[in-house]
Amino acid sequence: MNMDMFTDAQRMEKVVRLCKRRGFIFQSSEIYGGLNGVWDYGPLGVELKRNLKNYWWRVMVHERDDVVGLDGSILTHPAVLKASGHVEGFSDPMVECDVCRRRYRSDQIPLTTPFRTLVDLIVSDREGKAHVDSITVGGDSRRDVHDKAKIQSKYLHPDWKLDSIHLEPGHADDPVRSCPHCGGELSDARPFNLMFKTRVGPVDARWSGPSILPVSATGTIGPAAPPPSVMLAGVATMGSKDTPLSDDDDAAVAYLRPETAQSIFVQFKNILEVARKKLPFGIAQIGKAFRNEINPRNFTFRSREFEQMELEYFCRPEDGMELLEYWKEERLKFYENIGISRANLHVLDVPDEERAFYSEGTYDIEYDFPFGRQELEGVAYRTNYDLSQHQKASGKSLEYFDEQTKERFIPHVVEPSAGVDRTVLAMICEAYAEDQAPNDKGEMESRIVLRFHPRMAPIKCAVFPLLKNKEPLVAKAKEIITLLRPHMTVFYDERGAIGRRYRRQDEIGTPFGVTVDFETLGEREPAMRDTVTLRHRDSMKQERVAIKELANILTSRIR
Ligand code: ATP
Repeated sequence: MNMDMFTDAQRMEKVVRLCKRRGFIFQSSEIYGGLNGVWDYGPLGVELKRNLKNYWWRVMVHERDDVVGLDGSILTHPAVLKASGHVEGFSDPMVECDVCRRRYRSDQIPLTTPFRTLVDLIVSDREGKAHVDSITVGGDSRRDVHDKAKIQSKYLHPDWKLDSIHLEPGHADDPVRSCPHCGGELSDARPFNLMFKTRVGPVDARWSGPSILPVSATGTIGPAAPPPSVMLAGVATMGSKDTPLSDDDDAAVAYLRPETAQSIFVQFKNILEVARKKLPFGIAQIGKAFRNEINPRNFTFRSREFEQMELEYFCRPEDGMELLEYWKEERLKFYENIGISRANLHVLDVPDEERAFYSEGTYDIEYDFPFGRQELEGVAYRTNYDLSQHQKASGKSLEYFDEQTKERFIPHVVEPSAGVDRTVLAMICEAYAEDQAPNDKGEMESRIVLRFHPRMAPIKCAVFPLLKNKEPLVAKAKEIITLLRPHMTVFYDERGAIGRRYRRQDEIGTPFGVTVDFETLGEREPAMRDTVTLRHRDSMKQERVAIKELANILTSRIR
């Protein structure tokens, strides 16, 4: 991550506001105050996301002979993640503030705080008696330290009144890192495992103890009870009072997968047998992954629940490095084909010391988000590490037999691993634009437009009758909707002036607008009967096209 990159907080704020206002992305559980790091995709967001995933699946699986798909489970056997190294090592270094108890990923906090000094807080207690509390506060400047001292005072003396703040002149001797929120001291870094642990089967902390609660005939056992089916299943499996259900039962532990890749490795042998593929070949998967990120941030960029699109491309060892290059180029092309300009994409050749120890080469494909240049996708040559680990731990052979050379070996793998949510966010950031467009009176007005690639746009075509109270116009517009609907997502809108209707569609990125007017009815010029105005979102140019040509014209542009 490059902290010094140019950022544009204002632009990001506009993107976030638009996402909420037009129904792309909402905070999860918003009416209850929200769940941090978790997001829901609204009616337009879900279309955009599906378009992305479908296109990825199309080019990575359907259009290739050498890739097959998998839809693996989210709940993962702990042995899988022990063998892969996740149980031991899938952690980020975490630091905690001594004052406000906020936790941070250590590598995301600047190494030193430029200004750190002793501060005297003068506070009065409930009886009005004054006290002096000497604290240490770190910040970017004297002003910043002053503000942060005020915040610390709220944590240290929540019920007392802050009278004044006095900063010692000059710097304190040791400019160490401090809490970005309150300037407090940070603990030493310690590893924090990012995996979500859960329990499988009828176990629950509420029932750990010497006996199983009785279940009535109706299955009800009081307010804290689980659904009857769960309890009954529990009784049936556990059998007797002497085998208490325990939350700590190791056999019941499972993890929510932190990446989709592991189920591919674990199913490698089964798929090899059924798909009858020869090396090199790949297994692709799109699905949810979960990481208990210490600081979810930058909107959906770092979430705790997200989706990945991963390909594990198995090969002979000698082909690994060449395939790494090949997949990097393929993936760059992919981003360009969904409307992300090459100028905003960057390839980081991850240096030896930052790569996973088993990887012989890794590229990060990065994008210039408004909050800085950040990773969209990792393309890694993982050698045969994963399959070897699973072979060792499971005791089952995961070798490949080469019929031609009669060799038996564990295949190597190149993995392009992309984030659905990060790519959706990149598409929205890339598409967001403000420009000038004429209103119904021909005066120029500013407009917000999402310039999505037509292939990705949530709605492909909007259809407008010029007037809503003119029955033949409305009937024709609805006919066009019926005509187009089998081929694409369409939207019918008859409310307001036509310019306003265009504007509403521009804002959600609809690339085409079709207007049914009196010429369509052939009332003025019979030759124009059954033609409509087709308006293009980006150029705002309009052309006259025959209704019967519409589906063909549009489908060729959105595929
Ligand atoms: P980062 O360094 O940003 O935490 P990573 O290198 O750990 O990412 P990978 O394990 O390589 O990420 O995962 C592959 C892809 O999955 C990433 O490139 C990203 O697009 C996506 N991804 C990973 N973590 C998250 C997350 N917390 N939220 C959203 N997408 C994620």
